[in-house]
Amino acid sequence: MKVYKFGGASVRSAEGIKNILNIVSKETDTLFIVVSAMGKTTNAMEVVLDNFMKADRSSALMKLAEVEAYHRQIIDELFQNAVNTDRILQPIFDELKYLINTGIGDEYDRWYDRLVSYGEIISTKIVSVFLNESGARNCWLDMRGLLVTDSNFREANVRMDDSRMRLNAAADFSINQIYVGQGFIGANLKGDPTTLGREGSDYTAAVVGNLLDAESVTIWKDVPGILNADPRIFKNTVLIPELTYFDAVELAYSGAQIIHPKTIKPLENKQIPLFVRPFSNPNDAGSVIKGTTENPIGIPVLILRKNQVLVTVRPRDFSFVLEESLSKTFVVIHKHRLKVSLIQSSAVSISMCVDHSRYLAGALDELSNDFKVTYNENLELLTIRGINNEIVEENTKGREILLSQKTRRNARFLMKV
Ligand code: ASP
Ligand code: MG
Repeated sequence: MKVYKFGGASVRSAEGIKNILNIVSKETDTLFIVVSAMGKTTNAMEVVLDNFMKADRSSALMKLAEVEAYHRQIIDELFQNAVNTDRILQPIFDELKYLINTGIGDEYDRWYDRLVSYGEIISTKIVSVFLNESGARNCWLDMRGLLVTDSNFREANVRMDDSRMRLNAAADFSINQIYVGQGFIGANLKGDPTTLGREGSDYTAAVVGNLLDAESVTIWKDVPGILNADPRIFKNTVLIPELTYFDAVELAYSGAQIIHPKTIKPLENKQIPLFVRPFSNPNDAGSVIKGTTENPIGIPVLILRKNQVLVTVRPRDFSFVLEESLSKTFVVIHKHRLKVSLIQSSAVSISMCVDHSRYLAGALDELSNDFKVTYNENLELLTIRGINNEIVEENTKGREILLSQKTRRNARFLMKV
C-alpha cells in the first residue's frame, strides 16, 4: 500500500478536490489518503478560537459562519445534489456551535486542539464523500481515535505502539482499497483531541506510512518537487531529483518549508521512500527522499528561515560556568517550546537564534531570573549549503549581519530584514 498526502493548498477549491480524484483514479495499489484542512481554514479556526478564549462567543460564531460558508461553496461546486451540503456539514458545525456556546475557555492549548482540529474533519468528510460518489470507493477514518498521542496539546507526540494496533485494525485493505484520514490531528489516551504542530500533516503521512509499513509516501504539493531554494524568494531555482534522509533533515531544520522537520524520522526508521510531487502536473516525477543516492546534490542550496529572534544570555554574576549555564538555559528553552535554529557561545555568554512564537515572552521572563537577557527581533537566518564566494557575496551583499557561522561547505548568516 501507499500513502498519499494532500495539503491545504491542494484542497482549497472544488477544482483541487477533482484533481485528487484524477490522481487517485490512476493508482492501482491500495491507498491511505491523508488530507489537511482546506486552504487557510486552520488560520480561520485560530481566529474562531481566539474570540472564544476572550469569551466573545458572538464573534467566534460569526467567524465560524465564514468557515462554514467557504466549505458550503466548495461542496456546492462539487456536487449536483444539494442534499450533500447539509448531510456533510450540519452535524460537524452543530458540534462546533455547541462547543462554542457551552464551553468555558480555560486552557488555550487544550481548546486549540479541540476546536482547530475540526478543519481536517470537515475537509476529509468532503473529500471522502466526493470520491465515493465519483466511484473511488473509500472509507473515512477519524484519526482522533486512531493516532494516539501524549497530552502535549498543540505539539503532541505520537505513541507509536498504541497507534500501530489501532490503525492496523481500522485500515483493513482486504475490506477497502482506499482509506481517507486527517492529517495534523490525533487524541490522547483519554480521547481528548490533540494536534501535532502547524503544518503537521506531512508528519501524519510519515507516521501512517511507518505504522502500516507503506511501500512509499507521496506528498502532493503546489511545487514541482524539492527545489534548491524557495522560488518565491530566490531566482533561478533548480529541482533536486534525489536527496537522502540526512539531506532532507538538514534542509528542514534550516527552515526549508517544503517538509515538516519531524517527517523524516518515521520514514528513515523503516527506509520508506518519500516522494514530493507536483499536484498540478501529476505525471511529473518530482523529487524522492531515501536512504542513499548515487546523485549527491551538486548545486548550492539556499534556505531562508524568517521571523527569527537572537537571544543572548549572560550569567548575572559574571561566572564562567558555561556548562551549567547551558543546561539551565536549555531547560527553559525546552519548557517554553522554543525552536532553536542556531547556537553560539563565548566565555560569558550564550547566543541562540529561535523562531518567534507566542511562548517567547514567557521564556525570556524565566531566563531573566538567572541571566542578563538581551534580544533582537525581526531577523532572518540564511543557510547556504555548498558555498562558493560568488553565492555568498550575491546573497549577503549590503546586508547587516548580526552573526555568521561557517564550515568548509556550509554557511549561515543571521541578518536584519
Ligand atoms: N492544517 C494544518 C495547518 O495548516 C496542518 C497542515 O496543513 O499540515 O497547519
Ligand atoms: Mg496546511
